[in-house]
Amino acid sequence: MQTKIILPEARIPRQWYNIIPDMPGPLAPVIHPGTMQPVSPDDLLPLFPMPLIEQEVSTQRWIDIPQEVLEIYQLWRPAPMYRAHRLEKALATPAKIYYKYEGVSPAGSHKPNSAIPQAYYNKIFGTKRIATETGAGQWGSSISLACQMFGLECTVYMVKVSYNQKPYRKSMMQLWGAEVIPSPSNRTNAGRSILAQHPDSNGSLGIAISEAVEDAATRDDTRYALGSVLNHVCLHQTIIGLEAKAQMEMIGDYPDVVIGCHGGGSNFAGIAFPFIADKAHGKQVRVVALEPASCPTLTRGVYAFDYGDTAKMAPVSKMYTLGHDFMPPGIHAGGLRYHGASPLVSQLVHAGIVEARSVQQLACFEAAVQFARCEGIIPAPESSHAIRGAIDEALQAKEEGKEKTILFNLSGHGHVDMTAYDDYLAGKLNDYEYPAEEIKESLSHLPKVD
Ligand SMILES: *Cc1c(COP(=O)(O)O)cnc(C)c1O
Repeated sequence: MQTKIILPEARIPRQWYNIIPDMPGPLAPVIHPGTMQPVSPDDLLPLFPMPLIEQEVSTQRWIDIPQEVLEIYQLWRPAPMYRAHRLEKALATPAKIYYKYEGVSPAGSHKPNSAIPQAYYNKIFGTKRIATETGAGQWGSSISLACQMFGLECTVYMVKVSYNQKPYRKSMMQLWGAEVIPSPSNRTNAGRSILAQHPDSNGSLGIAISEAVEDAATRDDTRYALGSVLNHVCLHQTIIGLEAKAQMEMIGDYPDVVIGCHGGGSNFAGIAFPFIADKAHGKQVRVVALEPASCPTLTRGVYAFDYGDTAKMAPVSKMYTLGHDFMPPGIHAGGLRYHGASPLVSQLVHAGIVEARSVQQLACFEAAVQFARCEGIIPAPESSHAIRGAIDEALQAKEEGKEKTILFNLSGHGHVDMTAYDDYLAGKLNDYEYPAEEIKESLSHLPKVD
């Protein structure tokens, strides 16, 4: 018997949940990278439209989802939840394993949950064009889709190595009407100065962010968009957890543990924040973030002020960080290779409300393959970190002979990541040692904030 839990369309959440009023303490200020003073909303206006700046600092617990956004969400939402009966059986565990599946969106991940409202608020604010960056291409494809739906132009600076190695994500962006530029490029001062020093540069997420920020800041018709980390992105993603709670309620169950993979924190926040709200009201639920051992921001980083990008152009936030010039090894879960983390998730980890664990690449692929063979869905390499976490919880339940209800977020499918699976199946993938020396070095460059 298979269990697919479908929320009736009429029950699609009409509001996002904003965790800011329920945080365990005041938020740290966001610092201007130039003046090193707290930013004002006006400082952010060259980069973001006012409605998103307002959401970034809003203390309103529930925020209405605009009708125009709901109509597009309805193309794939409510997203299904499944009980992984066949995986439970394969693990011979007494635990129940549920997963929420975000791979049903047109771009194949949770990212359109924020791309759609970001494009919408830019449209109503009068923005004509969005400039953004993408690493592996998942955010780039989601924002291209969203801009297409609202009639905005879109320029994506794509890290050059991915541009060459992941041609299909690039094709998706172009198909949805975006201009895709390999970064570093000669379109910006930031790009030109890198190319002058390193003509063969493969690029990095830090450089691509600098190019997109410069593009947006120097053109009146253009604004910047970021696919993770920021408070308003986490806010938009809470539709995942709100639906999941309603689905759990439909079948009369509730999780003992909620699990998500963690890159910048947006899909984790999405599944977890609505359950953390219950936790604040005395409900017993553990919440666990899984990150790669090669980029262990939450488990080995420090909780400190740091820049959001390598070129020190992005705002400085208090977060777990490995240092803004840390270069993570080239693992296949490209979406998890970020030096920092969401300030909200960071504060919750620091307060002991969220647990964080790191996992190695090979153990994640092993979990992904076992999952695909039981459940059918081929997971994104990023999502495989959450699967590893869920399987480990289920195996622990078996060892202890205890029942346990596990819920994890399957943030996307891996159909455009088959080269990674080819490499895994051919035995060509490696684990990476915890890069202790490099992290120590990059942590010595944190900015000083009083
Ligand atoms: C981008 C991405 C992630 C990581 O980003 P978060 O902001 O941490 O969620 C995880 N899974 C998938 C499928 C992604 O595309």
